[in-house]
Amino acid sequence: MPLSPEQLEQIDAQRSQTQQTLRVVSAGMESHLYKAHEVLDHGFVRVVDYMGDDGAIVQAARVSYGAGTKKARNDEGLIRYLMRHWHSTPFEMCEIKLHVKLPVFVARQWIRHRTANVNEYSARYSILDREFYIPAPEHLAAQSTVNNQGRGDVLTGDEAQRVLDILRSDAGRAYDHYEQMLNQEGQEGLARELARMNLPANIYTQWYWKVDLHNLFHFLRLRADAHAQYEIRAYADVMCKIVADWVPAAYSAFEDYRMGGANFSAKGLDCIRRMIAGEEVTQEGSGMSKGEWREFEAALKG
Ligand SMILES: Cc1cc2nc3c(=O)[nH]c(=O)nc-3n(C[C@H](O)[C@H](O)[C@H](O)COP(=O)(O)OP(=O)(O)OC[C@H]3O[C@@H](n4cnc5c(N)ncnc54)[C@H](O)[C@@H]3O)c2cc1C
Repeated sequence: MPLSPEQLEQIDAQRSQTQQTLRVVSAGMESHLYKAHEVLDHGFVRVVDYMGDDGAIVQAARVSYGAGTKKARNDEGLIRYLMRHWHSTPFEMCEIKLHVKLPVFVARQWIRHRTANVNEYSARYSILDREFYIPAPEHLAAQSTVNNQGRGDVLTGDEAQRVLDILRSDAGRAYDHYEQMLNQEGQEGLARELARMNLPANIYTQWYWKVDLHNLFHFLRLRADAHAQYEIRAYADVMCKIVADWVPAAYSAFEDYRMGGANFSAKGLDCIRRMIAGEEVTQEGSGMSKGEWREFEAALKG
């Protein structure tokens, strides 16, 4: 269970307190505030706080473009213009603070996004819970034979069971030893900051993660993408839904230009122009490498 009854009680208590404010609120985001969205087997994402809405993006953009834009473009059109032209700073006017519970190996990928503020649970100060990520059967897959950084077929039968048994018994044994090493119940034991070092990377950690919308879109573009590892993508997918409710116009522009759109090189554009003119273009005549051509074709076919 990702959330204990006490945590659920705390969330209910937080949601029952309301305050009057002169600040902008997003109705879509208010419905998410404090609620935990379950991810993987013990993880969650929940919004702890946020600032701004679609209007905040527009308001900031109008400081730079002046009142004239009000007549020329509606708010949604202006947001699409900003996204299309990589005018990113207005999106930085919105911020979000999340509480995330995630396996350590997912946290290692996540923390590479340096443009956020992070405060993590201290395993020097506190004892980690006995909670490990064990993939659901449909996510227990073999190494891909075509992609060094990906998965192939799902394991089944005895092979799936063998792998699950190893994952469970290694995690359980490592945690038993962690507990035995800890300084508790009158034993001298080992300090928490040292005892944790034999714990596996599928143990769960937690952090608060605060980021502005521009950098969050960058995170989502990379981590909600089909090429991202499933386990981090599971978090990114939930975050996409939250952002869509928070800033619907900005999310829709992001979905259109970034998630659903594609970038082409000068060679790629040249090939498209030649194709439109009726020429049959092949990889050999494209000036692209085999890898580039494969990705180019995939982008065109969708
Ligand atoms: C599918 C996939 C596979 C990956 N594989 C690997 C891998 O094998 N090995 C590996 O090490 N990493 C890997 N990564 C991580 C990747 O290289 C990036 O570290 C990660 O995605 C964070 O991206 P970022 O630096 O753009 O994000 P952020 O750190 O959020 O930075 C956002 C942007 O800010 C700017 N910026 C931030 N900090 C600096 C700085 N110090 N100097 C200059 N500009 C800065 C850059 O323009 C950057 O794009 C992978 C990522 C993905 C999505």
